[in-house]
Amino acid sequence: MARKVLVLGEVRDGFLRNVSFEAIGAAKQVADGGKVVGVLIGERIQTLSNEFIQYGADRVVTVENDKLSQYTSDGFAQALLAVIDQEKPDGIIFGHTALGKDLAPLIAGKLGSGLISDVTTIEETGGNLVFIRPIYSGKAFEKKIVTNGLIFATIRPNNIQPLAKDESRSGEITSLSVDIKDLRTIIKDVVRKASEGVDLSEAKVIVAGGRGVKSKEGFEPLKELAKVLGGAVGASRGACDADYCDYSLQIGQTGKVVTPDLYIACGISGAIQHLAGMSNSKVIVAINKDPEANIFQVADYGIVGDLFEVVPLLTQEFKKVLVSV
Ligand code: FAD
Repeated sequence: MARKVLVLGEVRDGFLRNVSFEAIGAAKQVADGGKVVGVLIGERIQTLSNEFIQYGADRVVTVENDKLSQYTSDGFAQALLAVIDQEKPDGIIFGHTALGKDLAPLIAGKLGSGLISDVTTIEETGGNLVFIRPIYSGKAFEKKIVTNGLIFATIRPNNIQPLAKDESRSGEITSLSVDIKDLRTIIKDVVRKASEGVDLSEAKVIVAGGRGVKSKEGFEPLKELAKVLGGAVGASRGACDADYCDYSLQIGQTGKVVTPDLYIACGISGAIQHLAGMSNSKVIVAINKDPEANIFQVADYGIVGDLFEVVPLLTQEFKKVLVSV
């Protein structure tokens, strides 16, 4: 059944986040031959509309307003509800990001619809669209179908394939003027924590350190390895609690949930709360000097050894291999 599906594009530092393109990939599956309409909300977003179309949106609706220059839930909700009212979609897809986690339940509540959050796979079985999402910290998977009404889902970054960019694609771009009223919060400025390199939640490679890294300086070899692999550095809560790194790097139940292609866990024991944030990574490599460490239960490759010996050796070898490619 052909459906019209809206996809909210997420803009950060003037660029569309990769998860927005993955959301278009998901929306194409839900649309089942129908139209995918990209929605861009903010300020100075016109130039991004073409890129959204090149990644598969059939057309784009923009809502520009100086009150939307920074994300606020009530501002973005007003803008998006106006687009929904105009477009009357059969489906809506967001990224399961900090923004998506905040905005999607609010919109679902306002529309009185259901919401399937944190979807990692969408399948077609027996004529039904089946949405699969991890539950119990990734120990089990739940399958959901929508029997009637709006199909509203958020998708976990790095799980659903985006379509290949096609620069020859074109589509209509229209703007909708929305009067944004009575904002409860006005964000004057966003002061970002200094972070180097790749965004952890979208990184394809993560080198994570635990309490076994032993100090702030102990993270240096991990940063070096991450740099060579074009990846990001992450951490266990043990490392954050010990003040070896910032809490923004924490992965796990109370930190970020990540699904990179490659996760290298260095000096991390593999507590259940840590596994909750990374066990769905495609390939897991664990480096730990304790052969009984729990992390080896989920690892595809395990190296029993001292991380301060193993990590520099890996960096050295990757440098050679990657330079010769
Ligand atoms: P440890 O358990 O101390 O493990 C250190 C490991 O390093 C050991 O396995 C040791 O063998 C190894 N090691 C030591 N030296 C070396 C070396 N030189 N070379 C190689 N290996 C070495 N934790 C999270 O990570 N994320 C969360 O989101 C999270 N949320 C939590 C929520 C709650 C409600 C609770 C109660 C706990 C949570 N935790 C979380 C904490 C979790 O239970 C563990 O305490 C934490 O993950 C342990 O961190 P760690 O593996 O770095 O440290």
